[in-house]
Amino acid sequence: MDYEGLLCDALNTVKREGRYRVFADLLRHRGSFPRATLHTDEGKRDIVVWCSNDYLGMGQHPVVLDAMKDALDKHGAGSGGTRNIAGTTHYHVELEKELASLHQKEAALLFTSGYNANDATLATLSKVFGDCLIISDEMNHASMIEGIRRGKGPKRVWRHNDLGHLEELLSQADPNQAKIVAFESVYSMDGDIAPIGEICDLARKYNALTYLDEVHAVGLYGRHGGGVAERDGVLDKVDIIEGTLAKGFGVMGGYIAASSVLVDVVRSYAPGFIFSTSLAPTIAAGVLASVRHLKRDNNIRGQHQERSAKLKRMLADRGLPVLMCESHIVPVMVWDPVLCKEVADELLDTYGMYVQPINYPTVPRGTERLRFTPSPYHTDEMMEALVDALDKVWTQRNLKRAA
Ligand SMILES: *Cc1c(COP(=O)(O)O)cnc(C)c1O
Repeated sequence: MDYEGLLCDALNTVKREGRYRVFADLLRHRGSFPRATLHTDEGKRDIVVWCSNDYLGMGQHPVVLDAMKDALDKHGAGSGGTRNIAGTTHYHVELEKELASLHQKEAALLFTSGYNANDATLATLSKVFGDCLIISDEMNHASMIEGIRRGKGPKRVWRHNDLGHLEELLSQADPNQAKIVAFESVYSMDGDIAPIGEICDLARKYNALTYLDEVHAVGLYGRHGGGVAERDGVLDKVDIIEGTLAKGFGVMGGYIAASSVLVDVVRSYAPGFIFSTSLAPTIAAGVLASVRHLKRDNNIRGQHQERSAKLKRMLADRGLPVLMCESHIVPVMVWDPVLCKEVADELLDTYGMYVQPINYPTVPRGTERLRFTPSPYHTDEMMEALVDALDKVWTQRNLKRAA
């Protein structure tokens, strides 16, 4: 068996398709977000990061850092085990209470990542309900798809945000079968937002539960950072809300918030929760500070939206093909994987601007793009320099512009 040859073949496949991924080796500088130093074989250079999901720079906020340092000094580094075996600290308990309250649910459960939260919860619910039909939006994140797959129950895929198609699938299902409608609020690649209230009303009509991934919205939307469901005043209509602690909240971890009994079932049945060491207390302490801070700081949410809207306008004014979506995401279309990677490389090498090319399988083939995530700390000057650079690259390479 030529194991080495098979491995190289697998890599060559992704390389041929122009979607071989190379990590940017960075160190951020606390206090000067979004600047960072890029480490390469040729040496080091300063760059501006345009694609961080630490949307509000909370990963460097003094409130978060102080809480983490304090927890480290007082209680040490690791958690010491799974939640069942010595891994539950007072920070974990407090943080779960805070997250339950943020989403106006009875309970919450922490995971080591949002990926784990989606994967473990959907797989577990599917098994516990027995023959549970999961109706999944076609643009759902890989972690939801993986959880649904591992649940081994029946699955139907509904056309993205299409209420008519959702109702068609719900009405075709056996009224006595358990059903979960799984979807996201902000879709992170196109930046569009689901009609959460309407989806929940339909689910309710056909007696289905609703599972909402608010990963790209928690901390960023709603009066207290409770996400789009809070903004839309429909928190009570959603049965299970899933979020991350790594993006808007700036640290690490994931969670679900739901009824006490549902959370207790996932806590009691999900192997991915039971058999994995819990988040370090330093992390839980940092996140707790971040969630509490963002509950109060509505200003930063306004600034974040303002930066994103302004960058979109600036790009559109130059005829660059930006998707004018309603969320904070700023996608600029390239429609080709090889060009997408080349443009991203040129931005980094020539202009010191880091944005990651987004290629298949993250987005469908032919819809390759650059995805910018301006934060409240990206200045007007940075945005002007970015738009100038893109304009030049688009002209030099004769890339497709907006229609
Ligand atoms: C990033 C992401 C996740 C996973 O969250 P992590 O905390 O990064 O593991 C889940 N859902 C969506 C939509 C995401 O973009």
